[in-house]
Amino acid sequence: RAKEKGRSTYHFYSAQMNAHGQEQLELQSYLRRALERNELFLQYQPKLDLRTRQVTGVEALMRWRHPVLGLVSPAQFIPMAEDIGLIEQFGRWALEVACRDACRWRDEGHPVQVSVNLSPRQLNRPQLASEVAQVLADAKLDASLLELEITESGVMHNPNRAAALLQELRQLGVSLAIDDFGTGYSSLSYLQRFPLSVLKIDRSFIKDLPGDEDAASLTAGIIGLAHRLRMKVVAEGVETVEQLAYLRSNACDEIQGYYLSKPIAAEEISRFLAVDLRNLMGPSVAA
Ligand code: C2E
Ligand code: MG
Ligand code: MG
Ligand code: MG
Repeated sequence: RAKEKGRSTYHFYSAQMNAHGQEQLELQSYLRRALERNELFLQYQPKLDLRTRQVTGVEALMRWRHPVLGLVSPAQFIPMAEDIGLIEQFGRWALEVACRDACRWRDEGHPVQVSVNLSPRQLNRPQLASEVAQVLADAKLDASLLELEITESGVMHNPNRAAALLQELRQLGVSLAIDDFGTGYSSLSYLQRFPLSVLKIDRSFIKDLPGDEDAASLTAGIIGLAHRLRMKVVAEGVETVEQLAYLRSNACDEIQGYYLSKPIAAEEISRFLAVDLRNLMGPSVAA
């Protein structure tokens, strides 16, 4: 009896797995077509410099809209694109589009830096720096207007090779940011080893500010540490004016998050750059 029961449980479980597996396979085959069918696009999320009160940069975030499924979350399709070997192609495309949009904002009188996320697999390409140089040249964009965001998982497999590659990218004049700092396999030695200009504090710390004392201490500590290493600090996922005030009083350089803006289309960024943002700082923190 027990055996029978175990068996039927197994069958049930396996049927579920198959349904899930089937779904994944279907999604993969859609994803393989996404680029050629123009289903991918970029949105941009502005970052606010807390000292100058200007938008100095925007982060490019990839979106996939399937005609039937609608918008698929990056948390779902980015890892899938990595698994099935599409991310290099998608990443190159994102780089090209982001550089073209940055040119347009510059020509409109707003030279903002554009940040593009790099997948760990792109950091495995020995030719990455020359590809980036090519994209910049084709777009006629100055390297100082491009930033590349990397994650700890992108450098931990082969830190020596990553260090050499990042050095090459730095020499082009692009800036390098470490993304989601404080999560995953954080190793402080990376901050010393790699030529990073920017540290982005992960949203998981920011969301508990300013009430949670541990989150507040960690955030203030990370900011101090980064500054002593001559890095700029960006806080991710800022949603409230209280979070902003805490970050500002602890000398955080820039904020990014829904409080300022959700990710928006390139044309909306043009309009966003034209407005005065001073009132966003709130009366209590105004200089
Ligand atoms: P990320 O690079 O850390 O990007 C920040 C994520 O936080 C974005 O999620 C953004 O929409 C979200 N976010 C920003 N402000 C707030 C806020 O105030 N509250 C909350 N709750 N969330 C906020 P998104 O767009 O879903 O992207 C998720 C991740 O997918 C990115 O995390 C990045 O790791 C990856 N990704 C996105 N675009 C690309 C890309 O072009 N290439 C690669 N390799 N990865 C990408
Ligand atoms: Mg990022
Ligand atoms: Mg991040
Ligand atoms: Mg994140």
